[in-house]
Amino acid sequence: MATTFSPEVGGALPSTMSDLPLSIRTIFEHAIKSHPRKQIISRDGAQVLRFTFAEFGKRVAKLANVLRTLGVQPGDRIASFAWNGHRHLELYYAVPMVGAVLHTVNIRLFPDQAAFVLDHAGDKIVFYDGSLTKQIKAAADLQPDSGRTFVQMGAAAEPFEGALDYETLMTPEPDTYEWPEIDERAAALLCYTSATTGDPKGVLFSHRSTFIHALASGLADALGISERDRVLPIVPMFHVNAWGTPFLALMAGADFIMPMERLDPAGVIEMCEQERVTLSAGVPTVWMAVRDMLQAQGKKLPALERVVIGGSAMPTSLMDDLNGLGIDAIHAWGMTEMSPIGTVSRDIAELAHDPGMQKRERYKQGRFSPIVQWRVVDEHGKDVPADGVSRGDLLVRCFAVAKSYYKNELANRSAFEPDGFFHTGDVVTVDEYGYMEIVDRVKDFIKSGGEWISSVEVENILMGHPCVKEACVFGIPHPKWQERPVAAVVLRDGQEADEDAIRGWLGDKLAKWQTPDRVVFLDAIPRTGVGKFLKRDLRERYKGMFAEGDA
Ligand code: ADP
Repeated sequence: MATTFSPEVGGALPSTMSDLPLSIRTIFEHAIKSHPRKQIISRDGAQVLRFTFAEFGKRVAKLANVLRTLGVQPGDRIASFAWNGHRHLELYYAVPMVGAVLHTVNIRLFPDQAAFVLDHAGDKIVFYDGSLTKQIKAAADLQPDSGRTFVQMGAAAEPFEGALDYETLMTPEPDTYEWPEIDERAAALLCYTSATTGDPKGVLFSHRSTFIHALASGLADALGISERDRVLPIVPMFHVNAWGTPFLALMAGADFIMPMERLDPAGVIEMCEQERVTLSAGVPTVWMAVRDMLQAQGKKLPALERVVIGGSAMPTSLMDDLNGLGIDAIHAWGMTEMSPIGTVSRDIAELAHDPGMQKRERYKQGRFSPIVQWRVVDEHGKDVPADGVSRGDLLVRCFAVAKSYYKNELANRSAFEPDGFFHTGDVVTVDEYGYMEIVDRVKDFIKSGGEWISSVEVENILMGHPCVKEACVFGIPHPKWQERPVAAVVLRDGQEADEDAIRGWLGDKLAKWQTPDRVVFLDAIPRTGVGKFLKRDLRERYKGMFAEGDA
């Protein structure tokens, strides 16, 4: 037969390959069919529940039937307000697979912020954990006429009049469902950035972007996940889809373990031990606390091979300490807008002969995922050299990177270039081996007398001080220098150090102009809902510190 050229492929030869959409359903069906006996394990109150993937599949089908009974239509937004637990995971699959969108709301938002995102998203139903009744009620009370349905999962902390019960809804429903075919470009999940500045911005992930992100993040030089892994996401399922692990693990056929509210170090250690977790992921703070407890108890977690650490910079001391405990600490960088994984730091063949250099490289945020196109540009938009020294703004684009925000024209105009490149807001270097290092977020740089001070660099050095548990560095307006750095420090339990000791110690490692002028000691550093330092609050709290005359 004569070959015809189809206009659909721009005049090129159409392939003979399937056009089946990339979808979350593909991951789901693979997991339950090819790995039916693998396990979903979840804390639930005092118990630990276990479901095989096959049983999980039946519960997901039941939930899809519940959604139908509740009148959910394709495109509807359905919110979750929940810890990492098995019912949350059921929502992760059932909601997108019926064609609706799962909006994972950050449970640590203030009631007015939660009400804002529920309203902005136009959520029709909210599924919430019973232990979070008080928090969700506080948000619901701000919008008494929202017409939303509330569904409670697990035991309630207090009554919520009118709320439906998840398990009661599930019981009568059949455990099969005729899944609809969904366009791969359709929205599957919605997540709002944690909004360290301004109102939260929503990112709508598609079936396609979710599938591609899961494939790429599983690669050997990314998370390197396999069927033999037992995966425990400490990163919450409302923080950029727990970095994709709920899809990645099921795609790989790995057991998936969820801690619910037990994110305290003792809870994490217990879960790692009992469930022989091999791979975990979370922000640095969690691992600092786990490290401290392991060191204090002289304990190791022999099954735990690797932890992925990102969300904010991993202090070099944390990587060293975890390595000392026999755990491979894998630094990664990403953003909500990127689904989120952008870079992962792993060893490379080229540096096999030079362990010292390899280690220094591993401290960095890592090498780019193959699904990320990136540019590092100067203030004129020109690419800077990849020499490990030249800094520039990082721009990214690709299959799992947002091309716009959800209903937010203002943010779209400043964040996205006409060619689709997204401004990450991070200033970085990339070196000859392809390792990217975050110098700072644009807004966190400290401008002192015409020089730029990287808060990340100073924090990293401070966190290596033996008495320092945590340190956060921020700029405060200064009458002479424009801004000067201030360090907020939390000391380790039982340790003592004063301002002179800390500044003196820094003086050996930093130039004088980079050394913070003041050190303030706090019991805790204020944080965003996903555990990042809230520098905005500290800048506000100490803004008059260098007022005229006091400089
Ligand atoms: P928000 O922008 O509201 O903080 P995100 O969770 O999307 O929400 O945060 C993305 C930002 O977090 C990145 O642009 C970067 O500044 C920071 N970040 C993430 N991972 C790292 C890391 N490993 N090292 C340093 N900064 C990081």
